Amino acid sequence: MTAAELKSVIRKKARSLGAILVGFANLARYRRYYPQAEKIYHPDAVWPEAKSVIVLGLPLPLPIVETTPSINYQELYNSSNVWLDQAAYRLSLEITALGHPSVSLPRDGYADLKHLIKRASSSFSHVVAGRLAGLGTIGWNHNLLTPQHGSRVRLNSVLTTAELTADPLIKKDLCLHCRACQDLCPAGALGGDPAEPFAELDHDKCTRRHQFLKKAGCWPCGSCTKVCPVGADREAYRRLGVQRYYREQAGQSDETIAAWNHVRRFGSERNVR
Ligand code: SF4
Ligand code: SF4
Repeated sequence: MTAAELKSVIRKKARSLGAILVGFANLARYRRYYPQAEKIYHPDAVWPEAKSVIVLGLPLPLPIVETTPSINYQELYNSSNVWLDQAAYRLSLEITALGHPSVSLPRDGYADLKHLIKRASSSFSHVVAGRLAGLGTIGWNHNLLTPQHGSRVRLNSVLTTAELTADPLIKKDLCLHCRACQDLCPAGALGGDPAEPFAELDHDKCTRRHQFLKKAGCWPCGSCTKVCPVGADREAYRRLGVQRYYREQAGQSDETIAAWNHVRRFGSERNVR
């Protein structure tokens, strides 16, 4: 099997396991775009034999994300995580069976939020992998922004010894630098110089917000994911524009905001904001 045929087989297997987005990156691309290996966690820093990365993406439907913080969003988040872990695990076994040893990674690399307060990162970044695999670009909110679903995408990665070509990068910055994510962050965790490509993220504030929501039974936060105007999913769900989120923040209501608040009244601490 040629490398191109192998890549096509892997893409089909990933799709058959339910991946909606599939992208490929390799070591050469990491070395070109992120030459400081120890800072960005190249795949071979996690597993020295790794030559390529396969990134799997699963979108989160916007109308559920909009209810955050809620039990509905928490359950969606948990379901997407289970699926991603299982799909990456099974895909790694299938590629290994083809003669190319492969491993899957955990989609969240921490045991408890308290560990993020001490050290706010994990051993591998699926966001960087997604960008290098051509799935999107990194927004002001530090999330991967995809043309299809904005930042409403959960990711996991498979590392493989197979030498695969990387998919084309998205060169145009998808972030509109509108600052909606910053304005509407409930923790005030985003800020910094507008001339910079990414916000300064106050990890401590963000993590403490997550701890608060976890205790209330309606985590994660996801507000910066919810309000980002990028993504064709906004058209599909007829949610163009983000003014409603500003109206919600100002305490105004309409039929849609009332529905979000309806959901928030059940299954966890009521009306956590
Ligand atoms: S996850 Fe929530 S608290 Fe953290 S930066 Fe995004 S909006 Fe702010
Ligand atoms: S909300 Fe605006 S600034 Fe924030 S990531 Fe999305 S497009 Fe960029």
